[in-house]
Amino acid sequence: MGKWDLSDLYRGFDEHYEKDLKEVEALVSDLKNYIMYQKQETDQAYIEGYLRKEEELTRLIRSLASFASLTMATNVNDATAPKYLAKLQNILRGATAEEVIFQRYLTTVDLDRLAKGSKLMTTYLYQLKRSQDDAKHLLSEKEELLYAKMREYASGGWGQLQSLTTANLDVKYNDETITLSEVRNLAYDKDKMVRKNAYEAELKAYEQIEDQVALALSNIKREVVTINELRGYQSPLQKTLNQSHMQTETLIAMIEAMMDYREHFAAYLKAKAEALGHQKGLPFYDLFAPVGSLDKTYTFEEAQKIIKDAFYGYSKRLGDFATEAFNKHWIDVYPQKGKRGGAFCSNQPQLKQSRIMLNFTGSLSDVLTLAHELGHGYHGEIIAALRPLHWSYPMPLAETASIFCETIVNQYLLKTFTNDEEKLSVLENSLQGDTQVIIDILSRYLFEQKSLKTLKDRSINHK
Ligand SMILES: [Zn+2]
Repeated sequence: MGKWDLSDLYRGFDEHYEKDLKEVEALVSDLKNYIMYQKQETDQAYIEGYLRKEEELTRLIRSLASFASLTMATNVNDATAPKYLAKLQNILRGATAEEVIFQRYLTTVDLDRLAKGSKLMTTYLYQLKRSQDDAKHLLSEKEELLYAKMREYASGGWGQLQSLTTANLDVKYNDETITLSEVRNLAYDKDKMVRKNAYEAELKAYEQIEDQVALALSNIKREVVTINELRGYQSPLQKTLNQSHMQTETLIAMIEAMMDYREHFAAYLKAKAEALGHQKGLPFYDLFAPVGSLDKTYTFEEAQKIIKDAFYGYSKRLGDFATEAFNKHWIDVYPQKGKRGGAFCSNQPQLKQSRIMLNFTGSLSDVLTLAHELGHGYHGEIIAALRPLHWSYPMPLAETASIFCETIVNQYLLKTFTNDEEKLSVLENSLQGDTQVIIDILSRYLFEQKSLKTLKDRSINHK
């Protein structure tokens, strides 16, 4: 119960999956051949042909890669899925050198002129120009191929180690052994001693894996620094901004606004500390403590009803989307050993569907997380109408739909509850979310900057 149904993708790593994998292999070899030997009569026709082949590949890769990574998300110990994912990556890597050659070729043509009279090129003009621009940061074909291979064992391997060790971590809580997701969910418990003991148990459990996780983190960062330097980026941040289609000025303005608003969040955290009876500020274990009289936990059925009522109150299409996600079992609901922590949504525009992974334990915050992920899912439904190379979107854009849907549910709850104490719970929970978005993310940004600087300083000292 509560497991997602992936059968619209595949029923397993069966003949159908193998057949599609073979198809990708054929498409990749066709693409390589096209780039190298099938220069068309005009540049326009050549680029159009390339775009069509990329579209076809994108559709197929979405399904194959998603099935493997979704299988891994709910069972990090699955032995078959990573094998297939590696196989797929291996096939795709086969076209690395040719892709570099094509990207370099793009720098030799006038894209604006060629796009005139080509609907396909006009549709993708923005991507083509970005690709043309990114060509500045390419290494040689041989180096790109080598890096594509090595990164799988480097950052890829370290990332796998991190998710394996955290998903399999045994947390000793009282006399039980529980998972990391389970212990973290106790931070929302209404009993203060439960929250405190759970927090201490969580920290204690990390001692078993701190070296592995720290090594994974620093080696991933080392790879980032090394490769970005080779590619001629000023900094890893510049690369990230590029990837997010964002200007430096925009980021600076956002960070400054976050800095300016810190005092308001500090005031909220102080008020929360006082409400919970703490004299010297809020201890970390009470950051997520429930406030107000709403100490109810929700069953997943109750959560679905709230979401549907709230979404239908906003728009029929949004409500219908949630209903479809519930009825067709697009959601993997409950925590279990070997399942990844946290929550995410994975768009499957090739099917006009999405899949959502939760670690639902029934808190109000879990209900809002469900609303959040459904927001990403709804965004996915909208982009499914676009052409395949427009299916991916950068992170800053992604969170708009999700936070919007959370807000709809918050507004709905504030309207539904009549009791002030219940309203307080909803408002406080919403402030918790905002604190996470502003303060937590800001501290991650500062952490990231500091860790990169430390690595850089160390590498200078070594030279
Ligand atoms: Zn999100």
